[in-house]
Amino acid sequence: MNFKLSPNFLDSAFRKLTKNEFTSFQNLYTNFVQKNSELNLSAIRDEQGIWEKHFYDALLGAEFISDSDAKILDLGSGGGFPAFPLAIVFPEKKFFPFDSVGKKMKAAQEIAQKSGIENVSTIVGRAEELGQQQKYREQFDVVTVRAFASFSVCLELAFPFVKVDGKILLYRGPESEDDAELLTEAFGGFLRNRKVGKLPSGDQREIWEIVKLYPTEKRFPRGNGIPKSMPMTLEGFEF
Ligand code: SAH
Repeated sequence: MNFKLSPNFLDSAFRKLTKNEFTSFQNLYTNFVQKNSELNLSAIRDEQGIWEKHFYDALLGAEFISDSDAKILDLGSGGGFPAFPLAIVFPEKKFFPFDSVGKKMKAAQEIAQKSGIENVSTIVGRAEELGQQQKYREQFDVVTVRAFASFSVCLELAFPFVKVDGKILLYRGPESEDDAELLTEAFGGFLRNRKVGKLPSGDQREIWEIVKLYPTEKRFPRGNGIPKSMPMTLEGFEF
């Protein structure tokens, strides 16, 4: 292992970070490693992996977050990614890591608090249920989704939370997707951008920016487990 962290390691992911921001990332690293050794938040445990695959990767989506975006939901957040790195560089916005596993969100809240990341508030619940509740439905400017489910399932579970004119930021690998544009339209959205980015190690990553144009049909999200067991295809929509 010859990884040597430099203070400008993250700069090319988004913009040059301030010294304070870099210190926040160092604190996040320390506290994340500690919690991850107590309970299994993430399989990525080595120093380089955490800086690259969690921190650098998360910041690749930062350019799509606008000044007017105030509330950002991180769907299936696990150990707090991509929410935490974004919360460090956008301290004036409020981030909501959201996961069905209560102990992960408890750990995530503690990591944020210990790291001095104050603009984070975790939510525990299943997307199928909270997506139908008025308190959460169409309440967020941005929904981030990484390593969560297949494309269609991500759309069904993310769209209900997004305000009209808000957006989904989908963090993906380089794999192709059949019918991506048409499925996005069927759910009332528009695929505005596909950013191809690279991690320092060379791995290719993509950020898909999907804008919500119309309110989500009331039938979405369907009940617990149904989106994953019977993913929506184009046949399930009227055009
Ligand atoms: N986004 C994180 C974690 C990905 S793992 C990262 O990129 O590192 C996917 C997470 O989604 C798991 O923590 C799992 O508990 C959560 N999850 C799966 N199905 C869910 C559902 N229906 N509602 C809410 N969270 C869910």
